[in-house]
Amino acid sequence: MRVLRRDQNQRPNPNHRSKRNVYTDVMETFHRAADLIGMHPRVRLELEEPDFEHIFYVTIDTHDRLTPLQPEEERAFEDLPASSVKAGDAFEPLANGQFVLHRRALLDADITLRRGVIRIPNKGLFRIEKGGPRKFKAYRVQHNQVRGPYKGGIRFHKEVSLDLFKALAAEMTWKTAIADIPFGGAKGGIRIDPHEFSREELEHLTLRFVYKLKNLMGPTVDIPAPDVNTNPEIMAIMMRQYTDGERDRHALRGVVTGKDVRIGGSEGRSRATGQGVVYCLQEWARERDFDLSKARVIVQGFGNVGSAAAELLAGMGAKIVAVHDAFGAIHREAGLDVPRLLEYVFANPENLRRSVVGFPGATAVSKHDFWCIPADIAIPAALGGEIDGDVAELLDVKVVAEGANGPTTLEGDQVLAERKIDLVPDIIANAGGVTVSYYEWLQNQRMEHWTEQDVNARLEQTIKANYAIIRDIARNHPSRAPGRDSRRFCVGQALDMRTAAMVLALKRIEESYLLEGFSQ
Ligand code: NAD
Repeated sequence: MRVLRRDQNQRPNPNHRSKRNVYTDVMETFHRAADLIGMHPRVRLELEEPDFEHIFYVTIDTHDRLTPLQPEEERAFEDLPASSVKAGDAFEPLANGQFVLHRRALLDADITLRRGVIRIPNKGLFRIEKGGPRKFKAYRVQHNQVRGPYKGGIRFHKEVSLDLFKALAAEMTWKTAIADIPFGGAKGGIRIDPHEFSREELEHLTLRFVYKLKNLMGPTVDIPAPDVNTNPEIMAIMMRQYTDGERDRHALRGVVTGKDVRIGGSEGRSRATGQGVVYCLQEWARERDFDLSKARVIVQGFGNVGSAAAELLAGMGAKIVAVHDAFGAIHREAGLDVPRLLEYVFANPENLRRSVVGFPGATAVSKHDFWCIPADIAIPAALGGEIDGDVAELLDVKVVAEGANGPTTLEGDQVLAERKIDLVPDIIANAGGVTVSYYEWLQNQRMEHWTEQDVNARLEQTIKANYAIIRDIARNHPSRAPGRDSRRFCVGQALDMRTAAMVLALKRIEESYLLEGFSQ
């Protein structure tokens, strides 16, 4: 168990450890850094809890489902004649093995039903399960806006909670300060497994989500973006719902970021988070005199962040030796063919789960064995809490670059430090996404369109300059160079990288509060 370094005299709740949850864990680093900088007590109170925690519900009508019969049920329907249905129109396959039944396609069909079971040619026997209205719990946590409008992603996932969104919203406040962009922090989403719903149902869900949230969001109020299981398509739906019918709707495009480039998104945004991870790794490698083109890399999560980081590193010559996603892990000692893997996951309509599992030429490995694979770099780019103390003991790498938010637990941090494994903490490692979101927002405000080279040049400068400041804080090495100055951020002692990153964030946020003052 980690030994806490926090000064208990400065904490209001000495029983804190007994009420430990994902939010209190994330806030450990906040309190440690706040103690170190002697944070103004009122600013500390402002930051300890979010400004607003919105919990609400959205309802939608769901379609009927076709669920495959269990083998033991099939005998009773052996003689059931096949129904003549044009499968392509009538059934939408879902990643969980079910089909959504679109009733309109049954109008011209010749159908035989027995006790709710139907035989579909070339597909088998299915039970029709009735759809109907469903209710889902939704969240938007607005953590802080002292530096600018609330900003943060929308997550559709079956395991979300208020504490998780509080933690992720706070991380956005720290991250936007580290990237030095004029935004605050927020996060939200819906408790749902999107793999169980059709595109149309997810569209309706997103529309209702924005309908409920409309008064709380806006391009200068709160600006959502994609996160786990949301993407440019969902952002387009959110933008449409927010702007539809508004007289000045073109001026409102910046209400969400992470849009498709053709409707106001930024060049470079889709790969920006992975790109930011790579810029940090380039700085890490430069300091360690390590050749990234010879790196062996393991990546957890092959979605927006993990796939972009893998693609960019592989393009530099690095070997991506293993990838792990929600459905399994694959390994190839000689390095995976990343362009082909991208095609296999994202361009194959049969691969409904967008999973790496079954990729030809790779070997399936267990999650335990994935973490044990010797490599130079581990990039966790899936969910939080994945690198706990046990996983940190297994890792055989030189550096962990946190593409995901909060992938390393407190115990994981301690073990990594004891084992002298370097860490590039999430709030700088994955700040590329929100940084390019800011560029997207700027382009929307100005009705401009920047080139990918412009976007990446700015991103590289921002990420590398702020990474260098964090490194200076960690080494207690105040310095000034063109485009960066770490002198006012160093605290007189060396720190671990996570605490150093938090010190940078908190000093910038505290400056905003103290320069503006409190209105009462
Ligand atoms: P995504 O939905 O595009 O991809 C998520 C990936 O993680 C998928 O490959 C999925 O299969 C995998 N995954 C999910 N659960 C898993 C599990 N239990 N074990 C292993 N793999 C699992 O999501 P994303 O946008 O790439 O986000 C990934 C992480 O990066 C999240 O922590 C997110 O908060 C963070 N992040 C994303 C962005 C962004 O711009 N998208 C920016 C900053 C941080």
